[in-house]
Amino acid sequence: MIVLGIETSCDETGVALYNTTSWEEGKPAFQGILGQGLHSQIAMHRDYGGVVPELASRDHIRRVLPLLDQSLAQSGLKLTDIDAVAFTQGPGLAGALLVGSAFAKSLAQGLNLPSIGVHHLEGHLLSPLLGQTAPQFPFIALLVSGGHTQLMKVSGIGQYELLGETLDDAAGEAFDKTAKLLGLDYPGGAAISKLAEQGRSGIFDLPKPMLHSGDLDFSFSGLKTAVLNQVKKFEDKKIVDTSGVAQFHADLARSFVDAIVAVLVSKSEKALKQTGCKHLVLAGGVGANLQLRSALNEKAARNGFEVHYPPLELCTDNGVMIAFAGALRMLAKNNGSTTSGAFDIKPRWDLQSNNLI
Ligand code: ATP
Ligand code: MG
Ligand code: FE
Repeated sequence: MIVLGIETSCDETGVALYNTTSWEEGKPAFQGILGQGLHSQIAMHRDYGGVVPELASRDHIRRVLPLLDQSLAQSGLKLTDIDAVAFTQGPGLAGALLVGSAFAKSLAQGLNLPSIGVHHLEGHLLSPLLGQTAPQFPFIALLVSGGHTQLMKVSGIGQYELLGETLDDAAGEAFDKTAKLLGLDYPGGAAISKLAEQGRSGIFDLPKPMLHSGDLDFSFSGLKTAVLNQVKKFEDKKIVDTSGVAQFHADLARSFVDAIVAVLVSKSEKALKQTGCKHLVLAGGVGANLQLRSALNEKAARNGFEVHYPPLELCTDNGVMIAFAGALRMLAKNNGSTTSGAFDIKPRWDLQSNNLI
């Protein structure tokens, strides 16, 4: 079965074609990726310091068809080779979701194919299965993206249990907001990590929020405020740092990354212990963070669990993860998600409510 996937939940237009044959034959899942196209709107939104929803929707309209053509050309397939159309039904920006939904459903209707609404986070959660070493069920997923920070237990396709989540800012949001405080462009997650590489550890004693809270929840808004306080102190010359503003920023970035990584790693280990799972997957845009990856690798080697990552380019939003999640849903009995002709989107949507029975 060939599944077309369309992602338009936020500021990336992603299109991909996935062939389920390798999955069904127990071969590495990534072999099923036949073609893909991706356009990021980051540059367009940068001047505004964040995503402008109306601009996002309009750009998805402009991009989606050329990206479909690109994916088809890459795969050597024709429209009529497609067996099902998967699209991100939510959560995300309403206008942006509507573009993908309308496009996917019109195409499905025109070709007389089923369409399937995919939960964006299910796409992120399952993307580590597309990595070189796929995790085995059940596994714990640390989902760290621009809008979410969650620990989930994944017992199988469509079997997700929320173990803990952020009470305020998402990890990616904390990265982006802190990056802004340090004068970096939006979205600053990758840039602040790069800056942190030049910084010295332990110069600033930043909080590690909820490290010892006893549960699996997170809170990151205080960390950002702690960074702001240091920036203000520096500006008011209450921190006399002879090494200059560049080193100050790098040191602060380093303390920030150290703090956030420490909390994410500690809670992930707690989730593994609590559930008895031996496999951890890292998913979502912050999963591209190399400091987080190396800290998890170190713990995994020491404490006897395995950690799995999506391919680096599939950490942030893309069409492949939607085609893949849609394909696995299509293969599942009672997949519960093939949708009607209505353009029904779910800007707010709880993943567990979409579980398979
Ligand atoms: P959601 O999936 O929750 O709806 P989203 O789709 O906007 O949110 P993603 O595309 O998964 O989120 O991830 C984007 C986030 O990842 C941004 O906050 C970005 O700063 C962050 N990010 C990307 N690369 C890195 C990195 N190397 N280190 C830290 N953060 C990163
Ligand atoms: Mg994005
Ligand atoms: Fe995402």
